[in-house]
Amino acid sequence: MIRILLAEDQAMVRGALAALLTLEGDFTIVAEVDNGADVVARALATRPSSLLINQVDTADLARAHVRVVVASLWPPFAVRPGRSGKDNVLVLLERLRAFVSRHPEVGWADNARAARSRLARGQLAFIPAVEGGEGISSVADVDAYYAAGVRLLTVLHMQDSRLGGAAANQVGHAFGLSAQGPNSQGLTALGRDVVRRMMQLGMMVDVAHASDVAADEILSLAEAAGVPVLDTHAGARAFVDVERNVTDARAARIARGGGMVGTTLFRDFVLEVPPGSQWPGFGADSCDDVVAHWAHLAQAAGAEAIALGSDWNGMARRPGVGGSCPQGLRSTADLPALYDALAAHGLPTAALDSSGERLLELWDRVEAKADPRAQAEARRSASHPAGAFDIAL
Ligand SMILES: [Zn+2]
Repeated sequence: MIRILLAEDQAMVRGALAALLTLEGDFTIVAEVDNGADVVARALATRPSSLLINQVDTADLARAHVRVVVASLWPPFAVRPGRSGKDNVLVLLERLRAFVSRHPEVGWADNARAARSRLARGQLAFIPAVEGGEGISSVADVDAYYAAGVRLLTVLHMQDSRLGGAAANQVGHAFGLSAQGPNSQGLTALGRDVVRRMMQLGMMVDVAHASDVAADEILSLAEAAGVPVLDTHAGARAFVDVERNVTDARAARIARGGGMVGTTLFRDFVLEVPPGSQWPGFGADSCDDVVAHWAHLAQAAGAEAIALGSDWNGMARRPGVGGSCPQGLRSTADLPALYDALAAHGLPTAALDSSGERLLELWDRVEAKADPRAQAEARRSASHPAGAFDIAL
């Protein structure tokens, strides 16, 4: 019998999951928890064999002094009858809007000015974002995303798409399969048009997950336009040599253009740290890995260019317990321990404390290069997801 602790703040979702799980003969729910703060105590009391946990909790984020959040949606791109990948993005955006309106502690931020006014009201500023451009089949689709509120797009994701090449061997690496060479596919003609349209609209461009060729092409397009770009979540290639991770040279190039790099918490992309970059008491496969990758990227690009890349709820494995974070990096509840560890290992707290404001300054620069006529044109193009063939359960 597998004993499960179920942690989810929405009672209806929690109840539905519990009902589904208990229909399976092998599972028993030993505890249900509706907030991040109670998870550890209930887990210690009930000793489950598995934790089914929503890793992002807004109260935890506030406690950890996180204020600006890239609220990245990862839409299912398998096409359902009557609904395209783009439609799936638009449906998820409606759900994100509903989430924001249900949660007074969160504010929707569709420009840097709106983000600052959310912060002034004590709210978390959520920047609507989409991971992967698989839903885009024309430049008009970028307009539809913009009209629906998307302000940041990770252009490539797990596989090559109509927009270009993704970093090689991403799934294989997580399963320990041997590396293959880098992907030679760069941006397609459509991918280049999409990136140009994003810049016209003032959408932030994210090179995370892109092949080296595609990432360099995006950077060249952005540099020509004077627009900074992001690599929202990556480890240091110098430590874990996979195309998915950022090289020192690219991190420095992104920083020179006014961009930022987020350090990922995805275990497999930060799992190796050379002995010379460890310290006495270094805990392998713990948050020390993340601290070492963060410190290395800060050396390569400057501490001000590095932020938390997280990837919570990205179905990613996390570094375990040990080292500087006694509970590991299970969820947003562990962010204060990560902050303390970063500060203890030499990352300047002034840079850590101002990363949200620097992201908003970056966004200011992206918006300054936008074309208001293009923005107005895109707003007029608002489209609604097809509801045909939806099955109500
Ligand atoms: Zn990702």
